[in-house]
Amino acid sequence: MNYTKQEQLYEGKAKKVFATESPDYVIVSYKDDATALNGLKRGTIAGKGEVNNRVSNILFAYLEKNGIPTHFEKELSPRETLVKRVSIVPVEVVVRNVAAGSLAKRLGMEEGTVLKKTVLEFYYKDDALGDPLINCSHIYAMDLATKQEMDRISEIALKVNELLGQYFARAGVRLIDYKLEFGRFNGQIVLADEISPDTCRFWDDKTGEKLDKDRFRRDMGGEAEAYSELMRRVLVQEESK
Ligand code: UDP
Repeated sequence: MNYTKQEQLYEGKAKKVFATESPDYVIVSYKDDATALNGLKRGTIAGKGEVNNRVSNILFAYLEKNGIPTHFEKELSPRETLVKRVSIVPVEVVVRNVAAGSLAKRLGMEEGTVLKKTVLEFYYKDDALGDPLINCSHIYAMDLATKQEMDRISEIALKVNELLGQYFARAGVRLIDYKLEFGRFNGQIVLADEISPDTCRFWDDKTGEKLDKDRFRRDMGGEAEAYSELMRRVLVQEESK
């Protein structure tokens, strides 16, 4: 497969998407632009696009090897990747192992409290509404996905959590929580979008240092260094295989 970039189809907050010669594939290009608070806070994180592209591709290849269907096909350059052209299910799936962010706030839990059981949450993917929290009955009522699809999405999300938990434990990183997106490709549900420091909370398991976008969201500074440290951990993992 030697597809090349054709017309731009879409520009999002952190990525651009281009058509290819094939209707079944698109090329994503990762940007350094960062947004938070539903677009209210804007900035750039130097080198973020390259980190997210590399890290996400390594993780998708690892998941694929372990039986998870994904959209990943081939890394084309430091910022660009060929992926299957899926139709995105408009539901963001958040997987949580430790209370943080909006969950800690909503339920009055201290950030860092280990959850007795993995929490799965669903958010309606709609910027104008600020991605509200929903449950499966909303999803079926609004026809966002079928029961069969949501069962499959939940099953994949929990399997991904096991696999990523093992992966990051070896890298000396605690996987606190993260957001997944799924798409439909040839009638099947596949894992899509990205898994990166933009979409996950990663804490160093010894120092508790944040190696993710919370540094930007919370004006902590050191975000470029945190992203490259997270990538370094992932690359060390890959070399030791
Ligand atoms: N997340 C994301 N995109 C979103 C919302 C959340 O990637 O639009 C990720 C976020 O990085 C974190 C997890 O999902 O790892 C849970 O986020 P939370 O609901 O706590 O919201 P936040 O505190 O980030 O606003």
